[in-house]
Amino acid sequence: MERRQEKDERSVWEKSKQKIMSSRTANEDCLGWAARDLSGVLSPYKFSRRAVGDDDVYVKITYCGVCYADVGFTRNPHAKYPVVPGHEIVGIVKKIGSKVQGFNVGDHVGVGTYVNSCRNCDFCNDEVEVLCEKGAVYTFSGVDYDGTVTKGGYSSYIVVHARYCFQIPKHYPLASAAPLLCAGITVYSPMMRHNMNQREILSTSISKKEEALNVLGADKFVVSTDQEQMKASTKSLDFIIDTASVKFSPMSLNLGAKTVSGSAVGGTKQTREMINFCVTNKIYPNIEVIPIQYANEALERLINRDVKHRLVIDIENTLKEE
Ligand SMILES: [Zn+2]
Ligand SMILES: [Zn+2]
Repeated sequence: MERRQEKDERSVWEKSKQKIMSSRTANEDCLGWAARDLSGVLSPYKFSRRAVGDDDVYVKITYCGVCYADVGFTRNPHAKYPVVPGHEIVGIVKKIGSKVQGFNVGDHVGVGTYVNSCRNCDFCNDEVEVLCEKGAVYTFSGVDYDGTVTKGGYSSYIVVHARYCFQIPKHYPLASAAPLLCAGITVYSPMMRHNMNQREILSTSISKKEEALNVLGADKFVVSTDQEQMKASTKSLDFIIDTASVKFSPMSLNLGAKTVSGSAVGGTKQTREMINFCVTNKIYPNIEVIPIQYANEALERLINRDVKHRLVIDIENTLKEE
């Protein structure tokens, strides 16, 4: 009798355990690649995302650009592991919440470096959400207002509030659109703010010269690691867009009455404007499409400065269940 009861209890336990296990795997339907620790090494990882809320859009990710932030945040003592990187996300809308306007199932869209903000402060009201008083929530390794840790675009899909989602016209190649969401807006924002129209390119690598002059239409190309070339360019520049944080002496600002200003991507309004600008003017970032299985080598190449074009991961065709 006792033994039978024990057996029954065990089978109840087994059943409930199975139930828990199956419900867990059923929810963890988002496939991704994540870094688990400071090594930053990425490997397949299954997780769940929130259900589609009234204001949300469910985006099946087709491509995700590889940004240097993906290196920084996967090798960061403050990172919230596991870290699923990626904030140059593009894909196709599969579901929309009941209150969402301006998006339809099947639309091509992009998601950039932030996925939430208070939507109530002066900055948010001006659609400069990136400067939100309560802090914009980063697309990955950020803590969302509901307490969950955000996970980025090295994954099969994302659920995001429609406000932080951008329409991309269907005739614009999605893979090319990916880099616009971080790299594109990072450069566009200061160019617009300071009315830049010069075309001299400074680069650490001579390998980019021919392309800068012939393809990008630059008037002059300077290798920044070449002291002579740099000296010859003294006082020839009206603006420098520095996307990699160099060190400088504050004293050097006084001589020449120079000004330093900073920015971090742009708000949703300016991001829409930048996408329209690229679409209208047929501007397509140069990209190298790679499979997700190459993600670790891709980050290594970024660290070793061995990247000529923006690396973009073909999520749709290469991110599969193992
Ligand atoms: Zn980025
Ligand atoms: Zn705000």
